[in-house]
Amino acid sequence: MAALNLAGLITAAADAIAAHAEELTALDQAIGDGDHGLNMKRGFEAVRAEAEAFSAKPLPDALKAIGTKLVMTVGGASGPLLGTLFLALGKEISAAPDRANLTRAFGKAFEAVAARGKSQVGQKTMLDVLQPVHDALLQGKTAPAIADIADAAAEVTIPMKAQRGRASFLGDRSIGHMDAGARSTALLVRTIVETLEGQP
Ligand code: ADP
Ligand code: MG
Repeated sequence: MAALNLAGLITAAADAIAAHAEELTALDQAIGDGDHGLNMKRGFEAVRAEAEAFSAKPLPDALKAIGTKLVMTVGGASGPLLGTLFLALGKEISAAPDRANLTRAFGKAFEAVAARGKSQVGQKTMLDVLQPVHDALLQGKTAPAIADIADAAAEVTIPMKAQRGRASFLGDRSIGHMDAGARSTALLVRTIVETLEGQP
């Protein structure tokens, strides 16, 4: 991971979000206000626009810059939370992380998002994907397994009753729909691990 191609990762993430923006919007339309696809697309296009400058920085600084940019551009409830994830990752990760450092940094970043959102696992949010992904990292799972675990974790939010964010206003009517933030998080996890796997 020392020769991480961050510009390639940013491009892949922005492409994935753009390709799935309508799907994310549809999910948010069902139990929210229907802006999640647009919010995420705006944020990741803003990061894409500065991919060269970000990837010239050491990894911790680059992740912090991405987090700051996402906070400023995504908006909604998800912007500050996703931004916090990247900011906290940047604070904890080393310039050339190994698996142990990445896992520890991801755990700290998960805790930072939970603290910021005053949320916990089981409340039908992005945390329901982040937690199983952290567990998978701890267990030494392979990249394809981590991507599948993230997708399955997003599916697990379908029968949940939302207890945070706009969807919580619907009470029982939030049951039966996938959380939009869980889906976008799974999408990012798959894109990142598959891109890392494909890099020399
Ligand atoms: P908004 O809800 O303001 O319209 P978005 O639609 O962009 O913002 O994002 C909604 C997503 O944010 C939800 O699907 C959920 O995953 C996540 N979310 C909202 N509130 C919280 C929270 N308190 N903790 C964790 N995640 C949250
Ligand atoms: Mg929304």
